[in-house]
Amino acid sequence: MEQLPKEETIALREKLIGPSCQLFFRKDPLKIVRGKAQYLYDEKSNAYLDCINNVAHVGHCHPAVVQAGCDQMAVLNTNNRFLHDNIVVCAQKIVSTLPNKLEVCFFVNSGSEANDLALRLAQIHTGHRDVITLEHAYHGHLTSLIDISHYKFNLPGGVGQKKHVHLAACPDSYRGRYRDNEYSMDEIGTMYADEVGDLCEKSTQNEGGVSAFIAESLLSCGGQVIPPKNYFSRVYEHVRRAGGVCIADEVQVGFGRIGKHWWAFQNYNVQPDIVTMGKPMGNGHPVACVVTTREIADSFFNTGVEYFNTYGGNPVSCAIANAVFDTIENDNLMEQALIVGEYLLDSCQTLAKKHKQIGDVRGVGLFVGIDLVDDRDTRKANKECAQIVVQRMREERILVSADGPECNVIKFKPPMVFTKENVDEVVAMLDRVLTEVKHKERLDAKIKSLQNLVPAIIEEHSNKGQRPVRPIYKENIKSI
Ligand code: PMP
Repeated sequence: MEQLPKEETIALREKLIGPSCQLFFRKDPLKIVRGKAQYLYDEKSNAYLDCINNVAHVGHCHPAVVQAGCDQMAVLNTNNRFLHDNIVVCAQKIVSTLPNKLEVCFFVNSGSEANDLALRLAQIHTGHRDVITLEHAYHGHLTSLIDISHYKFNLPGGVGQKKHVHLAACPDSYRGRYRDNEYSMDEIGTMYADEVGDLCEKSTQNEGGVSAFIAESLLSCGGQVIPPKNYFSRVYEHVRRAGGVCIADEVQVGFGRIGKHWWAFQNYNVQPDIVTMGKPMGNGHPVACVVTTREIADSFFNTGVEYFNTYGGNPVSCAIANAVFDTIENDNLMEQALIVGEYLLDSCQTLAKKHKQIGDVRGVGLFVGIDLVDDRDTRKANKECAQIVVQRMREERILVSADGPECNVIKFKPPMVFTKENVDEVVAMLDRVLTEVKHKERLDAKIKSLQNLVPAIIEEHSNKGQRPVRPIYKENIKSI
């Protein structure tokens, strides 16, 4: 419900909320007052198709999830030092989706808390200090995680790379160091993985030894990157040989988003030592989890230091997470992610035949990226085009975002209730917007050639202090 006029909300936000907390569409922010399934509604009841909200995993305000939260809230909410069924039922559901060795859960409230605890477990278990992380990765907002999130520590105002952090190249076969136009995917996977091996050696010889390798199983902030098939298994070998443990960050990509499996690491036939999960787990409610092996959990226990987290695993959060699990199963959402995801990928690939700004289309399930380029041969990133796409789609009430180190990759990670009709709508609009961009580029090129043709006119008009170029050329263009 809207309580204040939009201008007042903006003014209060500017006055009272920390300026680093930035809004989408900063110049003209959206005020969203309601959500349902794959749609968000602004204060004027305009519906926006949501292609980016992976948190609202089973659909915004799914009735079963809302009901579960309300019912439990009305009966009891307290910390997990009392016995309660919801937490153990939730743990049972989680471990039933994972390889057998991943059998112990720690409940927390956010992806950041989960990753922070994962690092702590790794350091305690291995007795080592160093962490290997990937270029462009993001793992959370806590200090320990900013330190391992190249996406943040590498910014001009960022904290820089700490001594215990080793940075491996993002295993990107399209615009990374090793590319699919020069090497086979197997070679690329091996070369990227062996870089991690080199870092393991460096850490063992000179520094604190490798405690953990942490990576998303599909790299979202890196630009919807799908690592080569052999990458993780080879990395895990290197890391384990150095005495480190392997952490799979499934905070964005888990819970069946890839369709084929519950967890994206399962696409790579590996078994991490620690898995972190969050965002979709509560469909918008803050609940997250760290799952690990008995050995690692025991090392933590043997320190004698109790782990207590006031809200982690409370009955309401777990009731909600249980309802999310049940809804994924009852509504066949993994199957939907697989079918609709493949349709989205195919449709975008077909669109790529028409628009040369599309350099690459990649994805698994409902995790898809469109890499926009200036030139297909050089693969130069086209950030400007991505910005126009995001802005124009918003005007047409479709929400997409751009990410990647050069901010040129259009990301799709919609709620899992996304349909083929939604795909058709998005792809038709993308077609229209990319056509507009093409026309604009042609127009700009013509204006430029005219500018070259008639410098004297420009000079003459400029000398007279008039606004020179546009009014003259717009008339002239018609006759070209
Ligand atoms: N890991 C990944 C891969 C994420 O994308 C995020 C959030 N964007 C986090 C961890 C941190 O999660 P949270 O914001 O819930 O703390």
